[in-house]
Amino acid sequence: MERVYNFSAGPSALPLPVLEEARDQLVNTNGCGMSVMEMSHRSKMFLDIYNEAESLLRQLMDIPNNYKVLFLQGGASTQFAMVPLNLFAKSKKADFANTGVWSKKAISEAKRYGTVNIVASSEDTTFSYIPELDESKFSKDADYFHITLNNTIYGTRFTKLPNTGSVPLITDASSCILSEVYDVNKFGVIYAGAQKNIGPAGLTIVIIREDLIGNAMESTPTMLDYKIHADNDSMYNTPPTFAIYMAMLVFRWLKEMGGLPEMEKRNIEKASLLYDYLDESTLFSGTVVPKDRSLMNVPFLLPSDELNKKFIKEAQDAGLVNLAGHRSVGGMRASIYNPMPFEGVKALVSFMKDFELNNK
Ligand SMILES: *Cc1c(COP(=O)(O)O)cnc(C)c1O
Repeated sequence: MERVYNFSAGPSALPLPVLEEARDQLVNTNGCGMSVMEMSHRSKMFLDIYNEAESLLRQLMDIPNNYKVLFLQGGASTQFAMVPLNLFAKSKKADFANTGVWSKKAISEAKRYGTVNIVASSEDTTFSYIPELDESKFSKDADYFHITLNNTIYGTRFTKLPNTGSVPLITDASSCILSEVYDVNKFGVIYAGAQKNIGPAGLTIVIIREDLIGNAMESTPTMLDYKIHADNDSMYNTPPTFAIYMAMLVFRWLKEMGGLPEMEKRNIEKASLLYDYLDESTLFSGTVVPKDRSLMNVPFLLPSDELNKKFIKEAQDAGLVNLAGHRSVGGMRASIYNPMPFEGVKALVSFMKDFELNNK
């Protein structure tokens, strides 16, 4: 069977060369006579894979030496709790921008352990924009400031970071990590579930400044203490070995293509193609304020639910799959993460043009 163009929001498409390499190596990885899934996580053969993954990620994101890279489990959702448990070290206060469902989940976990100040929210319009962050509303003594860098469901992203001074900026980058160049120095913690831009589900990456490690609350479960994982090179317990291997192959693929500057350029080209068409179409409309548009998730609507359904069905028959929008926004959403080729977006836009002609 031919592969489809998969616009899934997550887990999402992986680069075909990575899947092919993993297939070729599946029963005998790197000539070790066994699959990576069968290796001890403490064996030299696995440690070589692990070290290559970390070193490639450090190169790709230009991660400074005073940051640790942790390969964890539990998804971004576990970070919603791990961040407050480890960072509520002084005032037990945190500032949040509320830009969607994932922000709200992070907020409700943080509230269990301390005081949350919502600096700004865009809930009034189903999160169709990124609210202005007024510095006079920031808590000077907050232990951290949290933003969701890219809002997967609504298709918005921060293009300007808040100036939080000495308060560490923490970000959920699950749906945009590795999609464009970010200055890691601007953040205290960057965390991301792997299943959007990194690899298969089951792996969570945490990039954390060293001074934020080692301050966990007394009652923090061992497995939720950053220090335990940092001191044990993410091997306090068995890490998700196969997912780390797959992430390593994705990192190699990114490096070979020219790294994040090249990926960013391609992502801008892909997203522009789709947004330009949405702007000129008289049938389709985008749902997001143009200045806050995501490069990764593009929601759009047709004039009626009936047409939305028809579009999703016909697109699927044409090999353009997983285009249904999140239930809170409705309509369609095209997730165009790193592995989605330009040709995939071109095929989608050309299909949309035909649909417009046939349904006026
Ligand atoms: C998908 C997603 C999550 C949830 O991630 P899990 O790994 O399933 O816990 C959280 N935040 C953002 C921004 C996401 O896109």
